[in-house]
Amino acid sequence: MTKEEIEGVEEYRKAGHIAKEVKEYARETVKSEVPLIEIAEKIEDKIVRLGGKPAFPVNLSINEIAAHYTPGHNDKTKASGLLKVDLGVHISGFIIDTAFSLDLENNNENKTLILASEKALQKAIEVTKQGIEIWKIGQAIQETITSFNFSPIRNLSGHELGKYKVHAGLTIPNYNNNNKTRLGSGVYAIEPFSTTGSGLVNESKSSGIYILQEKKPIRNLLARKILAFIEEKYKTLPFCERWLVKEFGTKSLLALNFLEKERILYNYPVLVEKSHGKVSQAEHTVLIAKNKIKVLT
Ligand code: MN
Ligand code: MN
Repeated sequence: MTKEEIEGVEEYRKAGHIAKEVKEYARETVKSEVPLIEIAEKIEDKIVRLGGKPAFPVNLSINEIAAHYTPGHNDKTKASGLLKVDLGVHISGFIIDTAFSLDLENNNENKTLILASEKALQKAIEVTKQGIEIWKIGQAIQETITSFNFSPIRNLSGHELGKYKVHAGLTIPNYNNNNKTRLGSGVYAIEPFSTTGSGLVNESKSSGIYILQEKKPIRNLLARKILAFIEEKYKTLPFCERWLVKEFGTKSLLALNFLEKERILYNYPVLVEKSHGKVSQAEHTVLIAKNKIKVLT
């Protein structure tokens, strides 16, 4: 294997095909008024049926919620407004991360916001190549989104993908942040967000999306059992309370709470646009090797 070759190319390629098919399925499945929990379960089941595993709980974020919303086990929220569908597929830890947005209320502003993020993603991919200074990718995104009179979200960014790590290494900015780091070979998610608001997100309430943060010995039997399950099944990938309630029942909520208090688990906050502007997102995973770029999704 040469230095240029990337580990898991075949897995990435397969996971990319699955992600593409799941996105098409999601576009048909998501309709206004359908409960988010039904959509999430259908999408996650589809990933498994096609031979992949969810790399994280499917994010279904509405309007001013930019990211990190996944329905809880008893969630009654229904699909509406401007909905972002952000999904991850992994095969043996090699992750594909991709997202799109849907207008569920036939609203022109929503449609333009969606177009702005899609165009920004397209422009970003056009400029992306091995060795590029990453501010240039951010600038392409920023210029495109501001040409629609919207703002890019500056404190959300694309990222490198690693084995069993959704956020590994390098960050890909959504604006010109003057970072002159050069892009190396690897697998990256590029994900512009456009908003009618100020262009920043704030941390809101807990999402119920968790990640293993630090291993510590614990005495509580149930918490120990659940922690062992998490380590075995999700490793260092995010998961959610909905998945654990399915496996262990609602008693798992107490254990999750305990593990969070012990700082063994981290509970991601929901990210909401600061001025409550609506938010759209578009995301692709790209592979960069041997001076070539390949869009995997
Ligand atoms: Mn994503
Ligand atoms: Mn991402």
